[in-house]
Amino acid sequence: MEPEKESEIIFRSKLPDIYIPKHLTLHSYCFENISDFSDRPCLIDGATGQVYTYAEVELTSRKVASALHKLGIGKGDVIMILLQNSFEFVYSFLGASYLGAISTMANPFFTAAEIIKQAKASSAKIIITQSSHVPKVKEFASDNSIKVVCIDSAPEGCLHYSELTSGNETELPEVEISSDDVVALPYSSGTTGLPKGVMLTHKGLVTSVAQQVDGENPNLWIHKEDVLMCVLPLFHIYSLNSILLCGLRAGAAILIMQKFEIVPFLQLIEKYKVTIGPFVPPIVLTIANNEEVVDKYDLSSIRTVMSGAAPLGKELEDTVRIKFPNAKLGQGYGMTEAGPVLAMCLAFAKEPFDIKSGACGTVVRNAEMKIVDPDSGASLPRNQRGEICIRGDQIMKGYVNDLEATKATIDSKGWLHTGDVGYIDDDDELFIVDRLKELIKYKGFQVAPAELEALLLTHPDISDAAVVPMKDEAAGEVPVAFVVKSNVDVTEDDIKQFISKQVVFYKRIKRVFFIEAIPKSPSGKILRKELRAKLAAGVPN
Ligand code: AMP
Repeated sequence: MEPEKESEIIFRSKLPDIYIPKHLTLHSYCFENISDFSDRPCLIDGATGQVYTYAEVELTSRKVASALHKLGIGKGDVIMILLQNSFEFVYSFLGASYLGAISTMANPFFTAAEIIKQAKASSAKIIITQSSHVPKVKEFASDNSIKVVCIDSAPEGCLHYSELTSGNETELPEVEISSDDVVALPYSSGTTGLPKGVMLTHKGLVTSVAQQVDGENPNLWIHKEDVLMCVLPLFHIYSLNSILLCGLRAGAAILIMQKFEIVPFLQLIEKYKVTIGPFVPPIVLTIANNEEVVDKYDLSSIRTVMSGAAPLGKELEDTVRIKFPNAKLGQGYGMTEAGPVLAMCLAFAKEPFDIKSGACGTVVRNAEMKIVDPDSGASLPRNQRGEICIRGDQIMKGYVNDLEATKATIDSKGWLHTGDVGYIDDDDELFIVDRLKELIKYKGFQVAPAELEALLLTHPDISDAAVVPMKDEAAGEVPVAFVVKSNVDVTEDDIKQFISKQVVFYKRIKRVFFIEAIPKSPSGKILRKELRAKLAAGVPN
């Protein structure tokens, strides 16, 4: 590594660095203090009320590991978890970790094509899912080397999950796992292009979780009496890391909900006296817009409300704050490639700091952040806007089998370039103001324009296309397409339906605007800024 330029301006947390046991594997780190809370509730199923203690969850995860080993899964092999939030999701992820294997997680509502693309790209050997999704994976798994395990029944050719939970933990093999080994492989489009496998290592996730919950005055104070609401999908790294892994490390109870519905959600908060609510802006918006319903429930148990994964406006933040009378409310800022947490609101610390609405936190401990001028690459002082960059052991190892994309994201000095634009103010608080990258965020879910553009170009009546985000109150952003047609008869509806059949609901194109030519740079790059400006000036006819 070259020495740092003298002029480099680097920001750090206001909290002191801490010791992080980076040598531990992720599962041994999560369960390191289990003797303090082995009989306490670990996982609670919100729908059935079923509860498993820490001792039970740890044991079942080892049983699952042993059974996965018998099915041929070993170090470096990939299992695909295609599940909504469930106990089985947790056991599968931890079970794979015990074997030095890797979990790739995907949205179970993906279409067959989307699932198969990720399963193939990651070389998944087993798919763990539920029976309703089996038809989508059948084609991929028709080759007998790929096994499908179902959590609710065993359709023909599939195994039932009970075969995994009845594994013999005493037969778990000794595996030498290095802290640099990959344990999770979520898919993300990063700053450009198609979704890519993000290699998160044992060391990376241990570091990220420790940055949040370890030490005397943790960034995100969680303890064993806490109840964490786990309604965000575990297949997204925000929920997997900041809810599941942080919760396990701290010994808290993790209350599992499969999907967000306002009434059951409020009922569960009241019933289980939830103390920590990691949410996303659309949940916060629903709470703000349903005053009559919300006011019927006692939400006074909540002491921390965290919003992340997408921008939360200052007004919305202020509106919702009054709904949680005893809570600190603020934001976290994450990006899958960053491990994912870059910054967290210091009002969540055990000894909290005052924060400003609209800020998305202060850089986590044991990490460095800088703001760079996207043109010159120079690092910028406080209050100046530029691209947010982060460095530390928590960031990804790289994109799987994609050195070029890795190099474009992590520079030679180890800085990960986020593609987000922001500034750090006089109190070390980070504000995100724009995005340089292509990414569209629908309710916190990623939509990669390149993926939709590639599909649009397969339509026989389309000669060119570009996809950009359009602001939307409920979703934050929705994808819209600018299209050059080669057949005058093709309609907006034809194109929308053509895409709808091929993608999960949140990637559906909401509007199609026909245009003479897609604006491009001399090198052929789509000038997305111009298209975004067109939208900002008013929806084109
Ligand atoms: P993902 O990799 O799916 O977690 O998406 C990461 C991206 O979501 C970031 O690079 C940001 O563009 C956006 N994001 C995450 N958290 C926030 C936040 N608190 N405020 C604004 N944007 C956010």
